[in-house]
Amino acid sequence: MLKNNLGYPRVGAHRELKKASEQYWAGKTTRDELFAVARNLRIGNWQTQSAAGIDLIPCNDFSFYDQVLDMSLLLGVIPERYTPVLTQNKANNEIDLYFAMARGYQKDGLDVTAMEMTKWFDTNYHYIVPEFVQNQQFKLFSEKVFEEFNLAKQHINATPKPVLIGPVSYLLLGKEKQASFNKIDLIKKLVPVYIEVLNRLKNYGAEWVQIDEPFLALDLTQQEKEAYVYAYKEISKNCPGIKLLLTTYFESLQGNTQLAVNLPVSALHIDLVRAPQQLDEVLELLPTGLRLSLGVVDGRNIWKNDYIKSISHLKKAIAALGEDRVMVAPSCSLLHTPFDLDLETGINPEIRNWMAFAKQKLNEVNELAQIINGDNALLQANLQAISSRNLSKLIHKQQIKQRAAAITDADAQRASAFGTRQKIQQQRFQLPMYPTTTIGSFPQTDDIRSLRARLKKGELSPAQYDEQIEKATIDAIRWQEEIGLDVLVHGEFERNDMVEYFGERLDGFLFTKNGWVQSYGSRCVKPPVIYGDVSRPADMTVRWSAFAQANTDKLMKGMLTGPVTILQWSFVRDDQPRSETTYQIALAIRDEVVALEQAGIKVIQIDEPAIREGLPLRKKDWQAYLNWAVRAFRISASGVRDETQIHTHMCYSEFNDIIGNIADMDADVITIETSRSQMELLAAFADFKYPNEIGPGVYDIHSPRVPTVDEMVSLIEKAAILLPAGNLWVNPDCGLKTRKWPETRTALINMVSAAKQLRQLVVETTVS
Ligand code: GLN
Ligand code: ZN
Repeated sequence: MLKNNLGYPRVGAHRELKKASEQYWAGKTTRDELFAVARNLRIGNWQTQSAAGIDLIPCNDFSFYDQVLDMSLLLGVIPERYTPVLTQNKANNEIDLYFAMARGYQKDGLDVTAMEMTKWFDTNYHYIVPEFVQNQQFKLFSEKVFEEFNLAKQHINATPKPVLIGPVSYLLLGKEKQASFNKIDLIKKLVPVYIEVLNRLKNYGAEWVQIDEPFLALDLTQQEKEAYVYAYKEISKNCPGIKLLLTTYFESLQGNTQLAVNLPVSALHIDLVRAPQQLDEVLELLPTGLRLSLGVVDGRNIWKNDYIKSISHLKKAIAALGEDRVMVAPSCSLLHTPFDLDLETGINPEIRNWMAFAKQKLNEVNELAQIINGDNALLQANLQAISSRNLSKLIHKQQIKQRAAAITDADAQRASAFGTRQKIQQQRFQLPMYPTTTIGSFPQTDDIRSLRARLKKGELSPAQYDEQIEKATIDAIRWQEEIGLDVLVHGEFERNDMVEYFGERLDGFLFTKNGWVQSYGSRCVKPPVIYGDVSRPADMTVRWSAFAQANTDKLMKGMLTGPVTILQWSFVRDDQPRSETTYQIALAIRDEVVALEQAGIKVIQIDEPAIREGLPLRKKDWQAYLNWAVRAFRISASGVRDETQIHTHMCYSEFNDIIGNIADMDADVITIETSRSQMELLAAFADFKYPNEIGPGVYDIHSPRVPTVDEMVSLIEKAAILLPAGNLWVNPDCGLKTRKWPETRTALINMVSAAKQLRQLVVETTVS
């Protein structure tokens, strides 16, 4: 049974690639220095995999920024606006062209924007979206894949397995930059380059080539299915002697199984962690010539593999196909897991014994093969770890489980309907038309961040730290009062991150020291780990919100992160449905909301920016997800009286297809990111006749640019045509923590002026 790996994290155990890239971008190091770091990382990864006994070791899974961008360079899909970068900088051209496409280019009198970036399926990894034009040409451009293959050959004993994104998925990942054509029609022009690449790899000695086609596990149109048949027939006809390992992940082939198993390739990889149910159908339909790679080790999470489960899949496949047609593998590339659990010396050893990072997962693949060969001791050791987790008191808290099980529909329901609540709240708050507010955070300056660093190092006592944060909070309050905002925020100066802050205060969470995962380019995130039943031992935000409210006569908005977002941005336990975990978090947030109300906070915002990104990859699964996600939000929001106003906030998302569910969240006020789309996004809310109050963002907080009063007035006027003016709020797109104070000040002063101008207009029209 071959041991197969699909990809390995590339940033380095200590984020070496991040540091090297950022230094290079800052002009502090040379290209050769950057290349040397990258080369060592690759060699280290190959040696690790080789030492772990992996047979099919990937190469070209390394990337300086993103593997989709690598494909664009390989295939010569370079938008025209970058041509000057290439010709201007002859010596360093390819890598600088590459970074220009990823990050934009502002040098030597050139000013070229970056390519768009979006999420890689339902992960938190972002890729650079290929841009296609109608007469798109493809030609072999970058030599990276060949260089990497040749380098890998020198460093491992086995023949390395180059990884490519397949032609159909590559097209589907991209975007048409002109309206007049369908990207899938480019397949005929694209396939010849793949043929050229594969034949060259074969000439260098490649045997297996992994070709990722994740879209095979998604909903496909007839035309897309035909593109698959066409592409793989052409490739198999023109690339004799190369063995293709067609790789799918993140979902089941369901509906596309016939298509996938009949493509002329040598092996098929399926994800049995996400979609174990697909194994039976695949085994039944698999033609005799095809091998099967079983993705049984979770490439998306940090838990130790349950060998009993994996072995039963493997045995079933071996019984049907024979051992030499079966491969064992992680479910997907290990890119989405952190590097090495051995570095985590601070975790409770009992919990650590349930976990596995990328390096440990390689070992699991190896051990599974040994168990198939009869090594019973390995199975026993695993069994012990798994059952200790199943029974652990650290995880299982009867009281929490009972409370979650006892949730009723009434718990997910405000006392009165929105219409009634709105009247009560209007009476109570007496806000002007077009009330102004912000989304929560104010600039996290170096001063603020260094306070936290000094607290950690023990250079500041907790009391000294609090005193400084109080000072920043009061300054922010005074300033908001001065410029005339209507509903104030405390500024979130005490928070490092909107999920981490809550995770640190909830039971059932732990934090790693080095558990970094690449998010995009050199950016990494360190998601908290939810290992057990979640509860809230004490108030989390009341101290700061109450302090802030005590320092102003204006309304002070309490600020919380919602249950779905906390779940979505963490590594979540896999021993119960995600919905269960979310309900537990929802109850904890609910208690915090009630505590804020009791402390005199009248307006409370529960942020859910991640609710849309949690949508399943297959449309048929959407409703089930939306049902529990919306319910979890409602549970967190419904413990308060009618007179307490609940806000929610979401960042830029396509709302069109889920607007009914957003409305169903029944927040009194929703604030959303709309300014960049010039309010286009609001159309969904207008068409739906969204009933509750809404604050469409009037300025883009991702840019330091200060919007003018007129701009914002016209955006609000646009919104007022689409929605009842009496329901509109005026606010920025999102929190301001990444901005600097000078631009924030001017922008918010302008925003308040814009609201005042509009109010004046209303007065004038009513009088005349
Ligand atoms: N309240 C958070 C903030 O203002 C919201 C951030 C977000 O939506 N991503 O920073
Ligand atoms: Zn936001």
